[in-house]
Amino acid sequence: MDEEEERVFVAITCTDRGQHRRIRLTTARLHASDRGMGYALEHFAPPMRDAKPGSFIGRDSYVFICPRCGRTPQIKANKWWSLLEAVSAAGQGEFDISLLP
Ligand SMILES: [Zn+2]
Repeated sequence: MDEEEERVFVAITCTDRGQHRRIRLTTARLHASDRGMGYALEHFAPPMRDAKPGSFIGRDSYVFICPRCGRTPQIKANKWWSLLEAVSAAGQGEFDISLLP
């Protein structure tokens, strides 16, 4: 058994803390050799080093955009991936971004 080959996905959703129906923004891949998310710039912006101040893109943070409630939580990239690893280690296949502070 090779655990490195295990495929791990976590659905990234928003419910506005239960205020609107769950929508899926993207799916995170947590494979050992491949981590990332689809739909960049549609429902989230990845960190960009040359992000302009005042734009919604972060220099070292992911910024999520919920089209339903308009919330745009942001979280540092290293924090985001360790959070998702904890979510997946807890056996959960989903993370609700409205739970971010
Ligand atoms: Zn929302």
